[in-house]
Amino acid sequence: MKYIEIRLTPTDGQLEELTGFLLAAGITDTVVDDPADLAELLNKKEDYEWDYVDPAVLKGAEIKPRITFYLEDSAANRRLASELTAQAQQTFAGLTAEISTEDDSAWKDEWKKYFKPARITERLTVKPTWENYTPSADELVIEIDPGMAFGTGTHETTSLCLALLEKYLQPGERVLDIGCGSGILSIGAALLGASAVLAVDIDPQAVFVSRENVALNGCEATVRVQQGDLTKGLDFEADLIAANLMADLVIMLSPHAGQHLRRGGLYISSGILAEKCAEVEAAIREAGFAIEEIRQDGMWCAIAARWQ
Ligand code: SAH
Repeated sequence: MKYIEIRLTPTDGQLEELTGFLLAAGITDTVVDDPADLAELLNKKEDYEWDYVDPAVLKGAEIKPRITFYLEDSAANRRLASELTAQAQQTFAGLTAEISTEDDSAWKDEWKKYFKPARITERLTVKPTWENYTPSADELVIEIDPGMAFGTGTHETTSLCLALLEKYLQPGERVLDIGCGSGILSIGAALLGASAVLAVDIDPQAVFVSRENVALNGCEATVRVQQGDLTKGLDFEADLIAANLMADLVIMLSPHAGQHLRRGGLYISSGILAEKCAEVEAAIREAGFAIEEIRQDGMWCAIAARWQ
């Protein structure tokens, strides 16, 4: 789709007035880049808000406060864009404006070029839905369209989980997947022979994407997907829990994980930065688990622990 991008950079301190000006002109959908927001994000109030910030995000601290909005490309909207920017420049001394026409059809799917079929573990291969691939006889293929959800399998936190699932899951076992994202671990569990899988995510988008992927892999009979917060309100006893979240969420989940595991069941947690691993390990032991194995890949760790 072609659209017009209008970017307005006022002089210091005029961001709010400019937002008001645009609202009065009927422009309600704006993107505000304000380095002050980033400063607030970095100054987190709760430990579990985030663990890791992409360096690209930190670059945002260097930009000037600005407002961007988009209009569908048409002659009328091009006229509107130039009228509005002229008015804005009259109202706000020193304001700079950039107007450009963009075409998102090229870059919208750009990332797909980098998501290729990949053998993640000894038996499991992850394949994007849009690629053709002929598996070998011993290979299990998880088809994924991650959409807006996390989980293409290539991230260390996911591949560590898949490897531990492959090692510990016995055919016929029941699996609880907390923070299912794209549904990748649940589908992997089903292919490895799980008899029933409950996939849970707090994000409705992830629930939607997981359901699509579960259907795509023909696993509907085994995998049920539902929206939820960690294990709150879940009535499901598992032989194995997989939770690829992040250190502080794993710590929050650990005291409740045992309530959903049979004695001797396995708790696989991942998304743990190496520097937080000892803290998470202590919380898991404290909750009554025996540590079976800790794996590390790059800066990420995953822990397999047994419910006593
Ligand atoms: N299981 C996938 C996705 C992991 S990303 C994989 O291994 O690749 C972590 C997921 O946890 C995200 O989809 C996020 O929405 C979900 N999540 C975060 N907090 C949660 C919570 N409190 N309860 C349930 N899911 C949560």
